[in-house]
Amino acid sequence: MKERSEVVAEWENGWLQVKVPLPYSLKWVNAYLLPEEKGWTLIDPGLHTEQLEVFWIAILSERDIGWEDIQSIVVTHHHPDHYGLAGWFQRKTGASVRMSRVALNNAIRLWGENETFSGELTEAFLGHGLAEELKDDMRDHMGGFRDKVSPQAFDPLIIAPGERIVMGGTEWEIYGGEGHAPGHLIFYDPVGRTLLCGDQVLPDISPNIGWMPGGDPDPLDSFLKGLQALRRLDVRMVYPGHRDPFPQFRQRIEELLEHHERRLKKMLELIGDEERSAFEVCELLFGARLRSNTHNLRFALAETIAHLVRLENRGLLVRSEIAADNTYRTTKRILYRRSNV
Ligand SMILES: [Zn+2]
Repeated sequence: MKERSEVVAEWENGWLQVKVPLPYSLKWVNAYLLPEEKGWTLIDPGLHTEQLEVFWIAILSERDIGWEDIQSIVVTHHHPDHYGLAGWFQRKTGASVRMSRVALNNAIRLWGENETFSGELTEAFLGHGLAEELKDDMRDHMGGFRDKVSPQAFDPLIIAPGERIVMGGTEWEIYGGEGHAPGHLIFYDPVGRTLLCGDQVLPDISPNIGWMPGGDPDPLDSFLKGLQALRRLDVRMVYPGHRDPFPQFRQRIEELLEHHERRLKKMLELIGDEERSAFEVCELLFGARLRSNTHNLRFALAETIAHLVRLENRGLLVRSEIAADNTYRTTKRILYRRSNV
């Protein structure tokens, strides 16, 4: 008998939670395999690297799952750690990929051929005060994800909030969840009171809520409103995209709502009576050591901007835009100060 790895956990109804390793502080992403009458539905297969191809081949072999047994691939959102291997699995298995229209558009915009997003993001970050010496790293870092989501899914089947989908012998209601990723999908089974929620609600860690150029103009507002709406669902068990499944759904929503209110308050304090860029606030909050970790810096700065935008839209901060000097590629720099209200 083959030895079974510890990275696979078995849940009710024969679900498999596969902890797909990640080279980031998140440690792993959860892929779920839901048993079908014949074969399996695969949710969020993970990042595309050579090591993870080897990983998956070993996992499927120890479970005696053949490529042809994967009948459907479902992606909660377009982030590389969830969507990256979808196209690879599609080619190996012949299964179709199901995802939202917005997730597909984002995947094409961020990692399609001739993408311009890495440049747009870097320029927007420079406008928000990103130190000049970090701009090349930021652009390269963002552009570097392309390999990890290639090949992309082809001819995906579009699924949307408000629709229903049958997976693992259960009919799921599809909800949308904004703030963490545009077009993020959440699956709710009202009979089993089970939620498959991707990164919308995570235990222990707060999902990254980041502002991006050309994306949601106020992602934190969308996220907080989304949490309020999700709170109404009667949930017995949550199957998240990271960490382990957990039952305390409403309690976790309360904690996340409180976390963001605290952080908003903290940012106001950090700005004090000064006029500061998002990058300055980010370094005050998270520390300058982030300069040596572009991945974490990108999340931290995007998260800081999302909070400053929320404070601005609540009338607590005012932004001013000043023309940048010649050393900057950007035409303007954005600063925030507290409003006098
Ligand atoms: Zn994500």
